[in-house]
Amino acid sequence: MLNAALAGEAGRIWLRIDDLDRARFREEYLEDIFRVVKLLGIKVTDGPSSPQDFHARWSQEHRMKNYLSALDQLRASGLLFACPCSRKELAAGRHQHGCLQGKVSLEAENVAWRINTRDLEPVLIPDLIAPEGFTVDLHAAMPDFVVRKKDGRPSYQPACVVDDVLFGINTVGRGQDLLPSTAAQAILSEMMGFGDLFQRIRFLHHPLITGEDGDKLSKSAGAEGVSGLGPAFKPEVLRATVNGWIGK
Ligand SMILES: [Zn+2]
Repeated sequence: MLNAALAGEAGRIWLRIDDLDRARFREEYLEDIFRVVKLLGIKVTDGPSSPQDFHARWSQEHRMKNYLSALDQLRASGLLFACPCSRKELAAGRHQHGCLQGKVSLEAENVAWRINTRDLEPVLIPDLIAPEGFTVDLHAAMPDFVVRKKDGRPSYQPACVVDDVLFGINTVGRGQDLLPSTAAQAILSEMMGFGDLFQRIRFLHHPLITGEDGDKLSKSAGAEGVSGLGPAFKPEVLRATVNGWIGK
């Protein structure tokens, strides 16, 4: 997956592109992000200026050490466990191999590192466009979420927390489909010792922009991105939509 997050303060806007998931990375998706940002007239002030600049300086591959040391912080939490279960086993409803009881070593080969979500309280996420905020039951939404994949690479959630902290991000806009991710990141930031810094981030979880068929736009579902939507999708339409979300 390739995500672009926009965050800013006092007119500064950071274009952030996540590329940890190399299996789903496509150069054309990367190029499309830059094309769309330009098309929408968004004035990015920080982060990569081009696909070439992204690869040279901003790819998450450059921050792998930071992610791995943050993952090490999770060992002391008591909630981290090693899980060799296959998707099929998990789909059957429960962990096998005694992983929840800590019977599998974190150092074993081909195990995912997961967070035990059973005893977590619901997470309240304040939001710039929802006065009462959003409450997420993480165990229902993302049970035992993965923080390190079986290949030893960090997952999206801890990497996102590290990047938020490293770059001093204070405002994040993302779709409401990512609310469980924000909840997971709030939990992880506490466990990694970044809780105070993460609490300073203001979130705006916006309704999803849908295609003509009412489904959310998704590259993996074949959407061509905003640039493929034609004249119905113009910068002024997007601005009006955003202003509607934030009540202006
Ligand atoms: Zn398991």
